Amino acid sequence: WAHTHIQCWHTHSLWALVYTQHPIWAGYDIHSWALRYVENTNTMACYNELLQLERGEVLAQFKLRACNAIFTALEQSQEAIEITNEDQVIQYVNPAYESIMGYQQGELIGKEITEVPKSEKNKPDLLETINSCIRKGKEWQGIYYAKKKNGDSVQQNVKITPVIGQGGKIRHYVSIHRPLHDQNKVRDIQSSKHKDRRKGSLDVRSTTSRGSDGSSQRRHSSMARIHSMTIEAPITKVINIINAAQESSPMPVAELYSPQLGTKEEDPHTNDLVGGLMTVKVGGRGRPWGSIDPHLPSHLAMPLSLNDIPPHVAQTMENEDSWDFDIFNLETACLKRPLTYLGLKIFSRFGVCEFLSCPEATLRSWLQGIEANYHSTNSYHNSSHAADVLHATSYFLCKERVKQSLEQIDEVAALIAATVHDVDHPGRTNSFLCNAGSELAILYNDTAVLESHHAALAFQITTRDDKCNIFKNMERNEYRTLRQAIIDMVLATEMTKHFEHVNKFVNSINKPLAALEENGGIGDEESVKGILTSPDNRILVKRMLIKCADISNPCRPLELCIEWAGRISEEYFAQTDEEKRQSLPVVMPVFDRNTCSIPKSQISFIDYFITDMFDAWDAFADLPNLMQHLDNNFKYWKGLDERKLHSLRPPPE
Ligand code: AMP
Ligand code: ZN
Repeated sequence: WAHTHIQCWHTHSLWALVYTQHPIWAGYDIHSWALRYVENTNTMACYNELLQLERGEVLAQFKLRACNAIFTALEQSQEAIEITNEDQVIQYVNPAYESIMGYQQGELIGKEITEVPKSEKNKPDLLETINSCIRKGKEWQGIYYAKKKNGDSVQQNVKITPVIGQGGKIRHYVSIHRPLHDQNKVRDIQSSKHKDRRKGSLDVRSTTSRGSDGSSQRRHSSMARIHSMTIEAPITKVINIINAAQESSPMPVAELYSPQLGTKEEDPHTNDLVGGLMTVKVGGRGRPWGSIDPHLPSHLAMPLSLNDIPPHVAQTMENEDSWDFDIFNLETACLKRPLTYLGLKIFSRFGVCEFLSCPEATLRSWLQGIEANYHSTNSYHNSSHAADVLHATSYFLCKERVKQSLEQIDEVAALIAATVHDVDHPGRTNSFLCNAGSELAILYNDTAVLESHHAALAFQITTRDDKCNIFKNMERNEYRTLRQAIIDMVLATEMTKHFEHVNKFVNSINKPLAALEENGGIGDEESVKGILTSPDNRILVKRMLIKCADISNPCRPLELCIEWAGRISEEYFAQTDEEKRQSLPVVMPVFDRNTCSIPKSQISFIDYFITDMFDAWDAFADLPNLMQHLDNNFKYWKGLDERKLHSLRPPPE
């Protein structure tokens, strides 16, 4: 379907795509502008026109007009729907609500929710739990007893979604209620008419996995969250079509998403993390780029081959195939050269030298060359972080679903990308480099500065000397494919694109897989395979894989997670120190060593970036151990924060 329309778009008419795919738009007078683009054979022009449509006034007009249709849907819905404003004053209930609860609209509209009688059957603290969840802008879903007008209690499956308006404030709450006893009936009716798109949001697994305590509420059933992660609006479909086209287009296309910067929470930690990692505010230099780290002990005897690794180092790598592998033991044992040692072992396990037709000595020189270009003086972005990301990458590559999706060239690309992904990182963020007018920011036009540099430098180091050129014996076309994949993955680690990558993954992979499973149990093998192995989807899997590996430290065992949190905080503090010294804009003011609460910063980081992403990755790759660690670690930071502690660990008793 998408394919034929994209073709049609290339050769004939753009408007056919827009017009025919969206019944909601069909009745409206779109011909006048649609016709302007007919016969436009320039793909870029079409993209841009579509982007303008999506962004511009037309969208606003359609949205207004579509309200009628949406109201009709509300009125026809079998589920009871209630909408309140931000002060929880009821503004709307639909007919299903009236018939289930026994009230007339007029009796409820304008009333505060607290004025409506509540059932005594709920746990006493349930309302408080719900409120504290939704006031933070998060969805709540669970079992709730509602009191009908006649006094009877009815057990319902309830989902309450805060609606965020412009400026990031909550403007409405939408509650959807489904009485538990006729859940199946409702589903039958819906699925006989059309595909039940909302099933996931009221999935039994999602309700049973969410208790009333804070932590299990935070950890939703992955599948249910997948369904609720993106808005199923017609425009989302258009965006998906454009994404699909974009993926297969060799040409760059203007950016579709602007992540909801700073709009999600009022929390200063989140704002600073978002500001620091996702935006460039306005305008440090480390050592000149591409120069070898002078702090590395040069006298250190490097391994000749895998067999020459000193026994005490080899011992620390014995369990490198386990998620709980302790990278810091290796770091100490090998005097801060973990990347070379771990690289040799992991690359050998995956048969990288055989794939590249490269001698092990070349791989060793390459690993040494790359590792020497990481800065050991950075507390976080040093070669131990690269080794950690390489480790996580190799772990993910062994997951069944990932193996089904990727080919060996993808695996090799992923391992190389993980190894080089932060090479020559100066220990400062992109925003800092732009603010400081650094050489790199000038070179890369303030755009994905660090990631572009990591990728470019990696290939420079590799190809400038045959001794470490691991690609030297590759066939030209295969090299180009591999190079493309490595660059794409390194660029995917840029945090400004975080939500874009996660959304694309969920929309193109998790949702179609979930739909197949819902339709026929496990889903038919061929269709699942088709989703997993399509070239576009393999790109999305690889991006998600390296992104998750890159920021997997909150999913590591507690002690490792604490160590990483200490290291990243110290690097941020050092940046703030330098910004103050040089009178540069302070990009992340909460990361001031005198005032920062590390537990709060970790809670925000997990809430904003980690939870949704790992829910999606877990739904795909099945990672219960990581999710358990994430849960424990989150509780640990919460515990410290509740005790108003700012440090990494509680003070000794
Ligand atoms: P990269 O620079 O490729 O490592 O991208 C990952 C980003 O996430 C980096 O900018 C880190 O600063 C950030 N990050 C990773 N782990 C944490 C953490 N535990 N707390 C806060 N920020 C983190
Ligand atoms: Zn990284």
